[in-house]
Amino acid sequence: MDANRPSRKRHKPCQVSFEFFPPKTDDMEANLWEAIGRLAPLKPKFVSVTYGAGGSTRERTHATVARIVRETNIAPAAHLTCVGATREEVDEVARAYWEAGVRHIVALRGDPQGGLGGEYTPTPGGYAHSTDLVAGLKRLHDFEITVSAYCEKHPESASYDQDLDVLKRKIDAGATRAITQFFFDNDIYFRFLEKARKAGIDIPIVPGVTAVQNFKQTANFAKKAGASVPDWLAERFEGLDDDPATRRLIAAAVAAEQVFDLLDRGVEQFHFYTMNRADLVFAVCHLLGVRAA
Ligand code: FAD
Repeated sequence: MDANRPSRKRHKPCQVSFEFFPPKTDDMEANLWEAIGRLAPLKPKFVSVTYGAGGSTRERTHATVARIVRETNIAPAAHLTCVGATREEVDEVARAYWEAGVRHIVALRGDPQGGLGGEYTPTPGGYAHSTDLVAGLKRLHDFEITVSAYCEKHPESASYDQDLDVLKRKIDAGATRAITQFFFDNDIYFRFLEKARKAGIDIPIVPGVTAVQNFKQTANFAKKAGASVPDWLAERFEGLDDDPATRRLIAAAVAAEQVFDLLDRGVEQFHFYTMNRADLVFAVCHLLGVRAA
């Protein structure tokens, strides 16, 4: 054992946030609340709840966020997208959030209605782009607004410069934080950060970290979302398709390795895609020194 191994305690305490998705069934609801109950004592900066285009998903997001406001002391952030609704409808949802005490929105364009990878067509009468949505929300109320960032370029963007230009426009419209799509190679994040800083973007760009619960699913999603999956990651999960217990141990090791490297290179804020499961994220936070008071 190396007695000189650097202590995580030497780093400044880091700030974490957690992302959940709205549950579809009673069982999923129970899982979500178990996860929130386990992670809440870590005092996250905020917890966010994703949003889908259909009316029922919309209501489930609202119900989940409203319950977080009622039953916890954590600040919620509600995701909101431009897809499948007119401006009036989106504004109505945003006003309802404000009335329920929600002050933070994660404002996104949203995936095409045909699903990730399909062609995006703005909804007639709706906000066409995330840039318009951010401006519209700011006109309604003084929401805190977080937006997305893509270290490997959004799949529909022609260039990195186009993406950075869009990010700047979202900031000009009122966004004060960006969360990245997940990535596995930290150099990709730092290269993006450097480009963004050179382009004059100075808001926090918080790395989105995912613990790979199911490698095949993650790899499929990553392909559509334009996030690369390195060969070394595939190799680590090789031969484990029927061995979820070992996969989980590997997932924890991979995530720990990633966040330690980010931490050692100066990152102090982390956003975890929890997939509504607490254990891996809780363990990684513990390693980072983020502990219940
Ligand atoms: P944007 O930054 O809006 O970019 C999307 C594309 O539009 C880019 O090619 C960009 O160049 C172009 N563009 C942007 N503005 C303009 C403009 N004014 N004029 C012309 N072109 C423009 N999806 C959901 O459905 N629900 C969620 O809850 C959700 N949460 C997410 C959370 C995070 C942290 C991230 C990274 C993604 C999330 N997504 C979610 C996925 C996201 O909606 C999709 O990736 C979508 O395809 C892009 O929306 P965006 O706001 O992330 O991208």
